[in-house]
Amino acid sequence: MSLFDSFAIVDWSAGNDTGPTPRKDAIWLGLVREGIEAAPGYLRNRAVAETAIADLIEQELAAGRRLCLGFDFPFGYPQGLAEALTGQADPFAVWAWLAERLEDNPSANNRFDLAAEINRHFPGVGPFWFNGLKRDIPDLPRKDMRAGHGMAERRTCEVALKGAFSCWQLGGAGAVGGQVLTGLPVLHRLRQRFAGQVAVWPFEPPESAPVTLVEIWPGLINSHVQQAEASGGIRDAHQVRLLARALARLPGEALRAMLAADAPEEGWILGLGHEKELERSLLPDLKPPPLCNDCFALPAGVAWTPVDTVLTRLKERLHPVVGVERAPMGEALGRVLAAPVIARRANPAQANTAVDGYGFAHAAIDGEAPVLPLIAGRAAAGAPFQGAVPHGSAIRILTGAVLPQGVDTVVLQEDVTQGEGAIAFRAGIKAGANTRKAGEDVEAGAQLLGPGRVLTPADLALVAAVGAGPELALHERLRVAVLSTGDELCEAGHPAKTGQTHDANRPMLCALVAQFGYLPVDMGIVPDDRAALRDRLDEAAARSHMILTSGGASSGDEDHVSALLEDAGAMAEWRIALKPGRPLALGLWKGMPVFGLPGNPVAALVCTLIFARPAMRLLSGAAWHQPEGFMVPAAFRKSKKPGRREYLRARFRDGHAEVFASEGSGRISGLSWAEGLVELPDGADTITPGDPVRYIPYAAFL
Ligand code: AMP
Ligand code: MG
Repeated sequence: MSLFDSFAIVDWSAGNDTGPTPRKDAIWLGLVREGIEAAPGYLRNRAVAETAIADLIEQELAAGRRLCLGFDFPFGYPQGLAEALTGQADPFAVWAWLAERLEDNPSANNRFDLAAEINRHFPGVGPFWFNGLKRDIPDLPRKDMRAGHGMAERRTCEVALKGAFSCWQLGGAGAVGGQVLTGLPVLHRLRQRFAGQVAVWPFEPPESAPVTLVEIWPGLINSHVQQAEASGGIRDAHQVRLLARALARLPGEALRAMLAADAPEEGWILGLGHEKELERSLLPDLKPPPLCNDCFALPAGVAWTPVDTVLTRLKERLHPVVGVERAPMGEALGRVLAAPVIARRANPAQANTAVDGYGFAHAAIDGEAPVLPLIAGRAAAGAPFQGAVPHGSAIRILTGAVLPQGVDTVVLQEDVTQGEGAIAFRAGIKAGANTRKAGEDVEAGAQLLGPGRVLTPADLALVAAVGAGPELALHERLRVAVLSTGDELCEAGHPAKTGQTHDANRPMLCALVAQFGYLPVDMGIVPDDRAALRDRLDEAAARSHMILTSGGASSGDEDHVSALLEDAGAMAEWRIALKPGRPLALGLWKGMPVFGLPGNPVAALVCTLIFARPAMRLLSGAAWHQPEGFMVPAAFRKSKKPGRREYLRARFRDGHAEVFASEGSGRISGLSWAEGLVELPDGADTITPGDPVRYIPYAAFL
């Protein structure tokens, strides 16, 4: 069960009424109710806000919804204040103390006087400081000149927070002190009014009441807020909207982990230490749009469609069907990048030396055989020389070391004679020799790898070198269901009766899917039975992003794959001008693309490489990719009729393309013998040994 049905986030303000027009530095309320986001609400003053929040609580209680209600100010003070002020180490006693004394209306309040009164409970100069008023207030210093009060400056949860303000500071840009003083009385009244129905985290367990008040801090999702702000709008509105969204989208266990904090007096910030989870839940909505029903339609009236037309169609109509997630670089090999990688720093980040040698300023050398005094110290990779090298002196420098100040040129150690604290070498060395300039490889801010890139080991080196990572935005791995159809099929390794055929396609197709970098989902063998096939396709659609079937794809009595796809109304029989390969059945089943491959293993492999592979790439988020072939001399003789493109099982030996002796499409041994395909063009062709043919190694399809 999820903990909450609704999430509301309040950005509080200690200021006076901000007028009728929505503006920044006012009170804002963000709300996600049962997964549906409301537009952020503008609340012009605290009285209006208190009423709106109480109304919201009423509504949620009446509807039986559990509400998580966040406020962006501390629920407690550093340890010790409660005791000093009220005689009990109880944060609620502080709430009550403040509520009793705060006088607040839309145009004025007594928060500064109240702070001065609290200060009088402490020795020395009390912890509160800053006076936003013209008149002086005894015991409230205008400047930070506090001493001897004995209170910690920050709560435990704030110590490591970059950009968090101390609750003692009552004013100045970003300060939060006034918000605590004006906010806690409101929380106190809500707690009284809805007694027994409101829990205050982390002082009380969220399970104990239908409404839980939590302390939040939008700084935890600052990068997302900044991003949203860049395209306009009010910062506070973005903050409450995004934080409510982040919490609402969190998986239950993640939210529970965040709620496990224990800070009985000071309070805690929800999500602190779990920023990654919050950020992850703000990634764009990951459900890509479904494919169009006609994505596999072919031009009407065309009997045999040329291979290139088929490929163009696939390229135009298919798009990614997988979501986006953030994953560590260690899991990124072979996966598809979903957002560009931007260089966070240049490569090299600083100018450095490419060799071991001696560095100096080039302008300082003259004559046939310069001699330069060597200064003490050295520059090494990871141990830069801190000082400057005087003009006319040289310094020992090792490969990869940052060029010290005063050095622009390095002479190779082999080209130098060294002795008596000096080096000598021949003139003629060019300025900048043996050095690498900062950014000569990659400039900071450059976009390096684009969305759709299938990541290689070298890409990961590049990502690391420019300071990106350690997480990357990647497409979720494409899951491909593989199933075989046919009454004659039996499982690999099992004894076969007369008339049975071992299922050879499924092991091959699962392995191909894995080799392409996707996740095969093995759906087994289905007999030639329409109801059984329908059930299995349903299951496959539920468990995967696309379905590869083999067998039963023609239009015979037992060709149930094509029959079912046709019934479903989103089927196209692709009569492709290709050998080997009978019709392919392409269609959508429950919105999932289905590639119905021929049963024949040779045709199944060729059709997978030529058609299913580029389709899977597009569905997986990867860019279109044409496998590279090489023109090489043929080691065979063949005459080919016009009208169909032809693929021969082939391998490359002694500079020539050899083809398998038999073209029979049941010859699986030839598939295994081959290391690639020879592609013969659509037209007629006569090939004699030595003629150039296009050879595509299997590796080119990966
Ligand atoms: P079909 O496309 O169902 O008419 O099958 C064409 C030929 O391929 C028949 O000889 C089938 O027995 C054979 N076949 C179908 N599926 C497989 C498979 N999974 N493994 C090996 N051969 C198969
Ligand atoms: Mg069959």
